[in-house]
Amino acid sequence: MPELPEVEVTRRGLAPQLAGRRISGVSVREPRLRWPVPRDVLALAGRTVSAVRRRGKYLLVDCGDGHLILHLGMSGSLRVLPPDTPPGKHDHFDLLLGDRLLRLRDPRRFGAVLWAAGDVEAHPLLAHLGVEPLSRALTPQRLHALTRAHRTAIKHFLMDGRRVVGVGNIYASEALFRAGISPRRSAKRIKRAEFDALAKSIKVVLRAAIRAGGTTLRDYVNPEGTPGYFRQKLYVYERTREPCRVCRTPIKHFVQGQRSTYFCPKCQK
Ligand SMILES: [Zn+2]
Repeated sequence: MPELPEVEVTRRGLAPQLAGRRISGVSVREPRLRWPVPRDVLALAGRTVSAVRRRGKYLLVDCGDGHLILHLGMSGSLRVLPPDTPPGKHDHFDLLLGDRLLRLRDPRRFGAVLWAAGDVEAHPLLAHLGVEPLSRALTPQRLHALTRAHRTAIKHFLMDGRRVVGVGNIYASEALFRAGISPRRSAKRIKRAEFDALAKSIKVVLRAAIRAGGTTLRDYVNPEGTPGYFRQKLYVYERTREPCRVCRTPIKHFVQGQRSTYFCPKCQK
């Protein structure tokens, strides 16, 4: 499943190819995605794309008076292709931009193509999203304040998109390792000083994954069609019984809220 780094890599690939271009047509071959593709999308021709932004794992194509909201779901990918490229079986949506087209391929159809007129931040899918982890808003102070009311485990807290957005299982596991914090600890019991390391670690793991082009995942390819190379740099994720890269203690694994959690019992307290 594409996570925040993959979506940000996609955004960076798409933005220079789309910004400033006039939409010349829209093609919806399969409207039955996670939510039905609204008819508003068919009326986008004539608008100009001014920017491609991101909020959590949503890509926001700014069309001036509204935003095309794109989500990659479980298996989606976006490519910029020559306008005469024949569509494949899972190529459900095209945004035509004169000499090129933006194409959504999504075999499992959990992705989304939606339209938000006016203030996109007020859209029901975006209005309740938590702090952007790569923004200046994610500080140790903010994390400390947000966790005071939460008895839930710190890993659950980090993965709750209403608190902090876009930190999935891989990045929560890796950030907690780097910060030396056990994933089982109650969020509200983590001390203020420990959030210095945690806030920094969250940004470090996400930025490293973005630089590497996203984590290698089965269904994911970035806009150039090549898999990411972050996986070989992971410290704990899917490394059960392998030696910790810091202390050689075997990495442990347990199931926490139906998700696998990986940690080093010696490095993480
Ligand atoms: Zn260790």
